[in-house]
Amino acid sequence: MCLSRFVCRTIAQLDAELTGCRACPRLVAWREQVAREKRAAFSDENYWGKPVPAFGPADARLLLVGLAPAAHGGNRTGRMFTGDRSADVLIDCMHAVGLASQPTSIAADDGLRLLGTRMTAPVHCAPPDNKPTPAERDNCRHWLVSELRLLSPTLRAIVVLGGWGWQALMPALAESGWEIPKPRPKFGHGVQVDVQPARTDRSPLHVFGTYHPSQQNTFTGRLTPAMLERVLATAAAAAGLPDPTP
Ligand code: SF4
Repeated sequence: MCLSRFVCRTIAQLDAELTGCRACPRLVAWREQVAREKRAAFSDENYWGKPVPAFGPADARLLLVGLAPAAHGGNRTGRMFTGDRSADVLIDCMHAVGLASQPTSIAADDGLRLLGTRMTAPVHCAPPDNKPTPAERDNCRHWLVSELRLLSPTLRAIVVLGGWGWQALMPALAESGWEIPKPRPKFGHGVQVDVQPARTDRSPLHVFGTYHPSQQNTFTGRLTPAMLERVLATAAAAAGLPDPTP
């Protein structure tokens, strides 16, 4: 058990410790209320109702950074990007470019494996209206910093899903051993930034931006599967992951 910030020694320890976090009173109340009241379509399910840990191998070369778990997605299933519309789009695209073992992410026991890739979020509890406060983002940053430190031996590229995640990631990178360019790089779909290490035990990182695969972005066509797959495939190549095409 890690007893204080920054002392988790393994990803497994970090994931286990995270699920007991109650540092944000508003989010604790909301995630538990949603888990009690449930959506009618899931009324016979036991909601997770706790912080949702990252998902994927502990030696990932590529990290996806989203926003926060969805109330009836990750907060229900207990797994990042699982059981909601964003997951339907994201996992299908990840499967198309060789980053996921199957095209669907429905439940924690559905057999999905991420290939060389891990998914996390700057805020690990579902927020009302999908909008964490700046204080909640800052409260949760130490979990992301710990994750970046533990992944650093293998991590070579990051894809950030949306501008909110981009803003949250930059200070976490700075705290975990990388130098953020000045002026701070701006978010945009398709943006790529190379981030240099600030210490000898870190490697350069390729950081990519894409619009978030939210229902609003995908229904309106602001983000198409082809757009998302292009960013994911470019990031996978930058991370040194194998090209799945024959
Ligand atoms: S959002 Fe993060 S810091 Fe806040 S209660 Fe959840 S896990 Fe803890």
